[in-house]
Amino acid sequence: MSTNARSVASRLSSSGFIRTQGFIGGKWVDAYDGKTIEVYNPATGEVITNVACMGGRETKDAITSAHNTFLSWSKLTAAERSRCLRKWFDLIMANKEELGQLMTLEQGKPLDEAMGEVTYGASYIEFYAEEAKRVYGDIIPAALPDRRLFVMKQPVGVVGAITPWNFPLAMITRKVAPALACGCTVVIKPSELTPLTALAAAELSIQAGIPPGAVNVVMGSASDIGEALLASPQVRKITFTGSTTVGKKLMAGAAETVKKVSLELGGNAPCIIFDDADLDVALKGTMATKFRNSGQTCVCANRILVQEGIYDKFSIAFSKAVESMKVGDGFVEGVAQGPIINDSALHKVESFVQDAISKGAKVLIGGKRHSLGMTFYEPTVIGDVKSEMLLAREEVFGPVAPLMKFKTEEEAIHIANDTNAGLAAYMFTTSIKRSWRVSEALEYGLVGINEGQISTEVAPFGGMKQSGLGREGSKYGMDEYLEIKYVCLGNMS
Ligand code: NAP
Repeated sequence: MSTNARSVASRLSSSGFIRTQGFIGGKWVDAYDGKTIEVYNPATGEVITNVACMGGRETKDAITSAHNTFLSWSKLTAAERSRCLRKWFDLIMANKEELGQLMTLEQGKPLDEAMGEVTYGASYIEFYAEEAKRVYGDIIPAALPDRRLFVMKQPVGVVGAITPWNFPLAMITRKVAPALACGCTVVIKPSELTPLTALAAAELSIQAGIPPGAVNVVMGSASDIGEALLASPQVRKITFTGSTTVGKKLMAGAAETVKKVSLELGGNAPCIIFDDADLDVALKGTMATKFRNSGQTCVCANRILVQEGIYDKFSIAFSKAVESMKVGDGFVEGVAQGPIINDSALHKVESFVQDAISKGAKVLIGGKRHSLGMTFYEPTVIGDVKSEMLLAREEVFGPVAPLMKFKTEEEAIHIANDTNAGLAAYMFTTSIKRSWRVSEALEYGLVGINEGQISTEVAPFGGMKQSGLGREGSKYGMDEYLEIKYVCLGNMS
């Protein structure tokens, strides 16, 4: 490991911040068969530590403990749950630096970006600590005079939360915070690539007074854990962030016990630069949406559609900005882009670039592995990308910006919507009329106008079409963890 990474790892380890066991019923537990898996630093390829490699048996116990705790946690007042969540938020913010360092170690993103994710992830806990107190019902005017009709909202029960490696904290908090706020309890399955941030957050939840069993963490064999969550009738809700392929499997598996499901899946975000855009705003916004987290976010601009009148100007200025990005270990000062998560992700990026070149696209900047080795890839801009290329059809999930030329607004909308995905879309224009018109025409759950970073805890996040079901964040995020119950009181005359 680099000197920095080594000293950070040993400091976090000796302060007890690096946890290696699963977390069931408030206790730190090894895998029952003693198996472990290695967690790597993607910047160096070195092993940070070994964590428990769990499966179905541990997951069943985690479900039992979540179910037992549900009976008491759901009976607390909203104010009591709110106080616990607020304390958890405070503890995460008090440990922001350590959590950020842990994230850079296991995920590779630059330290500033990792600390930004800690703040962003914590913001969901703070928001839902407040929202816990606002779970209102309704009184409905009855159709018969001797009746009174009420609607109340109640927690769904035990929630299985399965999360990816690209946002090791925020993808967890935006599920777990509303679930706990509503009175649900959770079994979290973080990615085996980034379990350490999840485990550290779980430890802080106990210190915050969230009772043992309300938050459980199991990691290891994804399919065994997934099957145990799906099979259990006690798990009433599956919330998943990850690939569309796995999301579809979970949706099908949840049918057996008719669970509620919410899915945050892959995107294929168009970023449309119109001729009338402010060039500086468009450059800044496109850089932000494309290259954050080395291009490994579901809302990353995946296709940059540039109108023909501004294409040359934009592609020259954009390539210059991309070329100046510093690539390296996330602990090094000034680094804007870390490694790609692993070899298979790197191969995917390489194969997409090769496919585009073989079909006539032009590499404007980058286009190959970085001289640093490992999974570092040069920040890349590819021009003359066409709809039939893989770069335009699927998520590249890496630091590659494909530019596609278009002539008219109608053509841009057609290209933008010509995909099964429907998560985020962006546009840059100075025309208010166009921004409304195009926003309404885009088949996407999120639209950014003249802005590349649009995620916030106060707004609903989620996709249309095959990008998912349900919304996370904002008041709408609470509904995912609540059942609506109608109560009819008769014989009132
Ligand atoms: P992934 O392979 O689907 O993994 C996501 C999670 O699912 C991981 O915890 C993984 O475990 C687990 N998993 C894999 N197979 C499973 C199974 N059969 N049963 C139960 N769980 C299973 O996705 P990824 O490659 O980690 O993440 C990248 C994808 O996530 C991209 O498509 C991206 O767009 C999407 N994403 C979407 C959003 C959004 O909000 N829409 C946000 C972030 C990412 P292991 O890692 O331990 O194998």
